[in-house]
Formats: sequence, C-alpha cells, structure tokens
Amino acid sequence: MQSDIEIANAAVLRPVREVAEETLGITEDHLVPYGHYKAKVDIGYLSSLADRPLGKLVLVTALSPTPPGEGKTTTTVGLTDALHGLGHRTVACLREPSMGPVFGMKGGAAGGGFSQVVPMTDINLHFTGDFAAIAAANNLLAALVDNHIHHGNELDIDVRSITWKRVLDTNDRALREVVVAMGGHANGFPREDGFDIVVASELMAIFCLTESWGDLKQRIGDIVIGYTRAMVPVTARELGADGAMAVLLRDALAPNLVQTLGGAPAFVHGGPFANIAHGCSSVMATRAGLRLADIVVTEAGFGADLGAEKFVDIKCRKSGLRPDVAVVVATVRALKYHGGVALADLGTEDIGAVEAGMANLRRHLANVREVYGIPAVVAVNRFPTDTDAEVARVVELVADEGVRAFPATHFADGGPGATALAEGVLATLAEPSAYDFSFTYDDDLPLTAKVEAIATRLYGAGQVTWEAKARRRLQRIEGDGFGGLPVCVAKTQYSFSTDPTSLGAPSGHELHVREVRLSAGAGFVVVVCGDMMTMPGLPRDPSAARIDLAEDGTILGLS
Ligand code: ADP
Ligand code: MG
Repeated sequence: MQSDIEIANAAVLRPVREVAEETLGITEDHLVPYGHYKAKVDIGYLSSLADRPLGKLVLVTALSPTPPGEGKTTTTVGLTDALHGLGHRTVACLREPSMGPVFGMKGGAAGGGFSQVVPMTDINLHFTGDFAAIAAANNLLAALVDNHIHHGNELDIDVRSITWKRVLDTNDRALREVVVAMGGHANGFPREDGFDIVVASELMAIFCLTESWGDLKQRIGDIVIGYTRAMVPVTARELGADGAMAVLLRDALAPNLVQTLGGAPAFVHGGPFANIAHGCSSVMATRAGLRLADIVVTEAGFGADLGAEKFVDIKCRKSGLRPDVAVVVATVRALKYHGGVALADLGTEDIGAVEAGMANLRRHLANVREVYGIPAVVAVNRFPTDTDAEVARVVELVADEGVRAFPATHFADGGPGATALAEGVLATLAEPSAYDFSFTYDDDLPLTAKVEAIATRLYGAGQVTWEAKARRRLQRIEGDGFGGLPVCVAKTQYSFSTDPTSLGAPSGHELHVREVRLSAGAGFVVVVCGDMMTMPGLPRDPSAARIDLAEDGTILGLS
C-alpha cells in the first residue's frame, strides 16, 4: 500500500469554496480563503447561525493507547466519509497537528491511509498560522511580565513564583529550563524560566474553550502569571495584556475548513495536549459544525479515561455541548498488547490474549456508559495482521457487554470501509438513549473530592495520595476562590494507573498527586500524577531527517 503522503499527494482536491457551499451551504462571501484548499469561516457569519438547531455529536475515543497506535483520527475521518457517503450532512472536527511530533517521532496527525484530511502537508505544517498566532500572543505576555519587572515591578511580582512560560512549536529539550534576562542592567532581572511547546500552553486550552471574541479576552485577562510577594495572584489583565493578546488571536479564532479524501468537510482547529490541557479541538469549530451539519464527528485525545473524561468534564461542562454517542476505537493489536503480548509478537494470532486484553476495553465501555452516560459503539480498526477469527472474537466479547462492535477497513478502503460502522452509529442516534448524560463529579465538591471521584470511579484506584506541597498548593488555589473549577488530570495515557506498564484494567492502586497547577484562564486546575512532558525532546532518529523537498516542490517523507 502507498504511504500516507503518497495517497495525499495523489488526491485531486476540490476548491474549498465548492466544498463549503455544496456540503455545508456556506457561500463564498462567508469564507476567508487561505489559498484554494483551506479557508477560515467568518466568525460574524457563524454568530448569525445562533438560532439554528444543533446536529448530533459523535465523540470518537479509544481504549488505553498502546505503542503501535489505535487510529482515533483515522477513524474519525473514515466515519465522517462513510456518513457523508450515505448522504448525511456530516463534518469532522479535528485538532490541528503540532510540528513537534511531525518532526519528532509520531509524525503528522491528519489521519492515515485513505482516511485523511487534505491538503495533508499544509495541515501538518504551518496550516493557517493559528499556532504562530498563539505563540505570539503567549510570548507577548511573557515579554510584558519581564518588562513590568524591569520598569520597577509596581505589582510586586515575586520573580520566583512566575509560572507563565515562553512557547514555541518545536520539540526542543534544550529550552526546557533556561535563564532569561542575562547580560546586565539593560536586559532586566535575570530569572529562571523555561519554554513549553505551544500545544501545552494554557493559551492553547483557552483558544479551544473560547466561545466568542469577548469570551476570549475575558479568559486571557483571567490568566494568573504568578504571585506577588504577599502571595496574591497576578493576572494578565493587571499587566494590561488581555486586549493586545486578543488582537493577535482575533483571526485565528475562526475555524479552519478543509476536506477529507472522501470529499466531506472537516474543521481542523486548535490542538491542546491531552495531559496538561483537555485535548479536544475548539468549541468554536464543534459548535459551528453542529449548526451547519446534521452530524459532527470529533475526536478526544488519548483513551476514554483521559480524553473523553476531559471532553465531558471540561469541554461539555463549560460549553453545554453533549455527545449523543461515543465511538470507542479498539484494535486487535491493542487488545493483545493489554492481554500481555510483547510488541514484537503482535502480528501472531492469539485469541486468548484478545480475551485477556478485553479487560481494558470493558472498563472503558463501562465508564462511557455508566459514568458519562453516553451510548457507545465499538469500532474495530482493522490492521493487515488481524485474523478474521480474532476480529470475530472481539465482536463477540463486545456483544457480551451489550455493545455493538463494527470491524472497519477505512484505512485501506476509505469511507466505504466504515459503512457498517456508520450504520451502527446512525442506528444508535435514532434510538432513545438508555443513559443519562452526567459529569464524573459536581462543581461544588472540594478539588480533592473531584480527583477522588475520577480516580475511584474511572481508574479503579483504591486511594488518592498527595505530595505535601501539592496539597498546600491546592488549598491556596481554593483559598484564592478557584475551588469551583473542574480538574484536568495529567497522567500516563497508557494505563488506568500512573504506571505505564500496568496494562489491562488494574484496580486498587494508588493515585499519587505530585503537583498542582492553576489554569485560571482556561478554567481548570491541572493535577499532575507522574511525569509530565510540556516540552518534548526529539528522538535519536527524528522524522525531520526523512522529510525532504523535491526539485519540483513536492514535499516528501511526511508520515
Ligand atoms: P490516534 O489519533 O489514535 O493517535 P491516528 O489515527 O493518528 O491515531 O493513527 C496512528 C497511526 O496509525 C497513523 O500513522 C495511521 O496512519 C496508522 N493507522 C491507523 N489506522 C490504521 C490501520 N487500520 N492500518 C494501518 N495503519 C493505521
Ligand atoms: Mg489523533
């Protein structure tokens, strides 16, 4: 089979204005084109649709991720194409890829095989400049902080307490910890600082949760950059940064429209990390999609314990959006991996391991239905090494849980490969839900109880323990009036526990909270359990070394 980029480069794209008009009824005057194949949709136009009824929302999530990959983005695109092919007005809502992984290890994030969004190279590289705008606004605030201190520090900011970091969209471990303002009097007061990758920034999370320009400025103003020496939070508003930062993000806030290989529309907008942030594409795009289409298919990062949990407890709680069905992506390989098979042996048939690994999927299905209260179907994303017997066994095991599973070959076959899955989704959407949508915890619980609810109800943990400084930090955050915020757990995506090697469905474990961070603008409290990477490094053999530009301008080697 051809590589992802060969398939994408060979595709004949339609002008985005035709896609917009024919699939979503958006006329050219409401588009802001970026070339012929990408466009932003005017925010004023989107606001004018406020009275339209909302379509159905399909959330694509997965079992606990494994090293070989499960294919949530690929399945989101394949399912969108299948629904589009069946004549339903459908739009995909995806995250914008970060250039960190594009040049590092994972590669791009525009789907795979014959289920991709295109133009694939544009989407994976600078796209429409949203990340550059976010970096500019983020770094403006950092500059204003140091400038304020340089010019006399009227607010009495304690330079040791500054948490606002500079960002760039590159994996660069050399910048994790730096000293800024070196070089003498004219350059300010030296202090320890650091860089994060753009997608790990609070501003990215704000961008993705924002509902309007007014809301954007409000949230930016609420950002806490650090504390005074009397330990009072200092906000971006007090530094006079909110207006200028909002200006830099004004145009970026409009959702980006592209097309899938199957000719369906796709909004690709915003891309927060799924650990330190909530890992979902923008509310602006989701809501636009729900007003313009009958069905929106969107993806949340990592497994259903992290991505779907944050989708529900952060994105839905804030925006009022409600998923109508969850598509839980599973693969035979991932089930075998959770069932104890080594990476190198995943290509060999092993029904017993599929059965053992089902423990992981089973718990995710229970969480989705019984905790979040969302009806579920399972997509079995087929890989060439899967045997028919293994796939059939997955379908049976899922049926034992009272859930329908649909094997799908959209990676190899495009939308037609996911027709059965699409029909299963449509059937579920047509039935009254057997569940009541609900959050994992209520707003008015103490922050510690919110973490306990997630740990015990979703992760199967026996108890939550706290590093003393994390608990003190939490008390301060509550004392400062932020106790009503939801929590955003940052932990390994590979396990229900904090140990990435503890596969399947561990229970009775301890969730140890090492650190707590406030994201007051985004509106959540980050609870860090285990190591958290906010500035990844490049691997020994980075993808960058294989990416090339041909004489004729063709981009090669992107995966
Ligand atoms: P996720 O969104 O869950 O991180 P992606 O959809 O980005 O996963 O897929 C991860 C990788 O696996 C991509 O390189 C994609 O091309 C590949 N992939 C996905 N589904 C299949 C499949 N059915 N067969 C082969 N490769 C696949
Ligand atoms: Mg993805």
